Amino acid sequence: MSLTRRKFDTLIIGAGGAGLRAALQLARAEASVAVVSKVFPTRSHTVAAQGGVNAALANVVADNWHFHMFDTVKGSDYLGDQDAVEYMCRAAPRVVYELEHLGVPFSRLDDGRIYQRPFGGQSLDYGGDQAARTCAAADRTGHAILHSLYQQNIAARTHFFDEFFAVDLILDAEGYVLGAVALEIETGEAVVIEAKATLLATGGAGQLFRTSTNALINTGDGMAMALRAGIPLQDPEFFQFHPTGIAGKGMLITEGARGEGGYLVNADGERFMERYAPHAKDLASRDVVSRAIATEVREGRGCGPDRDHVLLRLDHLGAEVIMKRLPGIRETIRTFLGIDPIATPVPVYPTAHYTMGGIPSNRYGQVVVPEREGAEEPIPGFYAAGECACVSVHGANRLGGNSLLDILVFGRAAGNHITAYLKETRYHRPLPQDAADAALARLARWERDGDGESVDGLRGELQRVMEEHCGVFRNEEVLADGVRKVAEIERRLQDARLRDHSRVFNTARIEALELENLVEVALATVTAALARRESRGAHSRIDYPERDDVHWLRHSLYYREGRRLDYKPVRMKPITVEAFPPKERVY
Ligand SMILES: Cc1cc2nc3c(=O)[nH]c(=O)nc-3n(C[C@H](O)[C@H](O)[C@H](O)COP(=O)(O)OP(=O)(O)OC[C@H]3O[C@@H](n4cnc5c(N)ncnc54)[C@H](O)[C@@H]3O)c2cc1C
Repeated sequence: MSLTRRKFDTLIIGAGGAGLRAALQLARAEASVAVVSKVFPTRSHTVAAQGGVNAALANVVADNWHFHMFDTVKGSDYLGDQDAVEYMCRAAPRVVYELEHLGVPFSRLDDGRIYQRPFGGQSLDYGGDQAARTCAAADRTGHAILHSLYQQNIAARTHFFDEFFAVDLILDAEGYVLGAVALEIETGEAVVIEAKATLLATGGAGQLFRTSTNALINTGDGMAMALRAGIPLQDPEFFQFHPTGIAGKGMLITEGARGEGGYLVNADGERFMERYAPHAKDLASRDVVSRAIATEVREGRGCGPDRDHVLLRLDHLGAEVIMKRLPGIRETIRTFLGIDPIATPVPVYPTAHYTMGGIPSNRYGQVVVPEREGAEEPIPGFYAAGECACVSVHGANRLGGNSLLDILVFGRAAGNHITAYLKETRYHRPLPQDAADAALARLARWERDGDGESVDGLRGELQRVMEEHCGVFRNEEVLADGVRKVAEIERRLQDARLRDHSRVFNTARIEALELENLVEVALATVTAALARRESRGAHSRIDYPERDDVHWLRHSLYYREGRRLDYKPVRMKPITVEAFPPKERVY
């Protein structure tokens, strides 16, 4: 098969906020940069981000980055690496002002400064009063950011491969990443894209679960590509369930709704968060609020005929606040529930939202693999940023508003590091003869159609298994069963066939490749969750309800080969300030 070959200085896989922020940095430094995206760039999931991006601008209350850093470390249940957390929180005001200058139309205060709203887990003075740190463009912040970044990239002449699906990385015998094989979705042609530096920015894996806020495209492709390239996944057991998905459907109602004054009630009309988090109440950290809702329902205080959800009250806020600050949310609720939140409380239940784990990286965006002795080695020319990476700033639980920040800060940092790397790296390394073989074999496998299990059916089954066996509350037996069931799905996938792959362009083939990726990430997630015998952040074990810092204050590393787990220490030492030592976490 003759293959099209293209050559760039840098290949970026993913055109969400992380990929586009990195690309902009590179294109402005005059590097030749290609961005590959399986959907048109402005359809990346970043577009759906509602609530906003955190930065201690102190526009509303007397805030500073030290408080932001403390909240992030505490929110992570002390699993975040404190050097990376410090770096992110200090850089936050600068990246937000940069966005403003790139054209993001932030909402404004009366004095013209950027509007900031309170979000969960935010405090002043290290656990004191509620802060207001989330910079918002109404409830469409991600939309504003992604569109501005895309336009700036067009102006800077970034090269886009729109609707190309990256299949696998290309490596040489020494372990250098030389680019990737991608499939042009419209034509089904494979292309080899060579680069001196490759950045994965493929986003999260929310499609692991049946009820999810995530777009259909969030299938963990980059994480699976890394696994197949021998790179471990870090902390995959930590998956965030957002407390307020539309009950039974999963669409997100931003935490900003509670930030604007909304609150949760159970069937008795009780404002139950006061019992679980007396101080922060409805704005406690997400893991805390999700567990509280699940507990209310489990103990029979759920609402509705099936007592299977709780209600989010916004009806006391008044039409003006809702229409000004939460217009998109009102629209979503009217569309999917047929009710108006101005008048009627909204049925909500926790829904899969965010992948805390990912490809191990450092604060320059470099992918790092731990050596046996515990030292970390960056892989030259290989980078990961955004939700597919694990820096780790979110540890065991991400704070709302910190992911948009993460993608901007580390997308930018990766762009800067690659720029420096390119100065020292004048030539492309030679491409081995068999460079694309493994990827082409995977593609060829999905050219056959005929009888066999359907890919679509298996995807649904995987999502149900993950929801039942790896949800908000977990235990040994349920997780062990989950590992067996996912492994069985992996086996059955070998015999699956496409019903009619020629159907609509190559979409059926893409779905099959995505399912292979989801299964890889699912196996990592349940395997690591079964092994971690403690409760920390979003990982909540009924059989091990306490956090266990003696044995488990460490990152998990899951290797595909042999489904092996290894561990590495948390980086407790910040760059310039004192560390925040682990404490009991109360809100
Ligand atoms: C509904 C919703 C609301 C949110 N609200 C907020 C919020 O208010 N504040 C906040 O901080 N965070 C929020 N988040 C989280 C945050 O938006 C995401 O974590 C973040 O935007 C991820 O950005 P990213 O650049 O890493 O990936 P994405 O934006 O997901 O982009 C991934 C890119 O990778 C490409 N890609 C993936 N696989 C392949 C492949 N195989 N081949 C080619 N291309 C590929 C995709 O096409 C896409 O361009 C929200 C998330 C959701 C789902």
